[in-house]
Amino acid sequence: MNLHGLHHITAISGDIRKNVDFYTHVLGQRFVKKSVNQDDPGTYHLYYGDYNGSPGTILTFFPWAGVPRGRPGHGQAYATAYSIPAGSLPFWQKRFTDLDIQTGEVETRFGEQVLTFFDPDGLRLELVATAEADLRPPAPSQDVPAVHAIRGFHSSTLGLTSAKATAAVLVNAMGYRQLATAGARARYTVATGGPGTYVDLLTDPKLPRGLEGAGTIHHVAFRTPDDANQEEALASLHQHGLASSPIIDRAYFKSLYYREPGGVLFEIATDTPGFAIDEPVETLGQKLSLPPRLEAHRTEIEAALPKLF
Ligand code: ZN
Repeated sequence: MNLHGLHHITAISGDIRKNVDFYTHVLGQRFVKKSVNQDDPGTYHLYYGDYNGSPGTILTFFPWAGVPRGRPGHGQAYATAYSIPAGSLPFWQKRFTDLDIQTGEVETRFGEQVLTFFDPDGLRLELVATAEADLRPPAPSQDVPAVHAIRGFHSSTLGLTSAKATAAVLVNAMGYRQLATAGARARYTVATGGPGTYVDLLTDPKLPRGLEGAGTIHHVAFRTPDDANQEEALASLHQHGLASSPIIDRAYFKSLYYREPGGVLFEIATDTPGFAIDEPVETLGQKLSLPPRLEAHRTEIEAALPKLF
């Protein structure tokens, strides 16, 4: 299976305007795409990332109005980490204090400093001040200077009661390799490695079972270059005895979904065609993007959706 790391991560949010404000202004991400949940067009699907919406930078949300808070725990992607430059942690600590953002203690993980913080729905996020070269250009932002800006994802941490079966899927079916272990955490990487490729397996039998709801991750998507690689990935999953969805056209990428044995929903998504397929890069996210089959209903759909700004 030809995977190149994380593609996007999808979470569930409550209040939509707080969500937009947090990811665009507080974190300085670009609002890349305003679309609807293809399975539920009365709900937005919002995408934040770098300027182009590059794979490996995209955090997406299903804002379900009135959805109760979930409970982070095992069987879920427990934490989502962004990569920032090695010297930028003090900037972010001050920023979060000034903006009254809830944070945790700074911890050292595999020799790097990690700051935990939470979005308005309590979603567990991390900044990893990485000593590794991360040459991905940050999203342009009026709120966050480029020198300190988020470069994209660093890693996804999966909460598990036992890592063995999940590790076997990562290694045997998905081509990942173990990079390091420390205590309850084991880090895996794929392809060329580096920030944006890492998956950490956190084994903690004391974690409660995760419950889906606002402030939790819905699924983690891994990137594969194109349709041919996607077909190969599907065949490989089946060879390894993993049940999956068929390949589904999501307009900006093609997707297939499967649940790894620890309970986390995984997706494999293609890098192609990308977010500029239905609007210019310069104006990404400004208009509501609808799949062609819903275009005829644009007026009703737009009227039913809440205003974002
Ligand atoms: Zn997805």
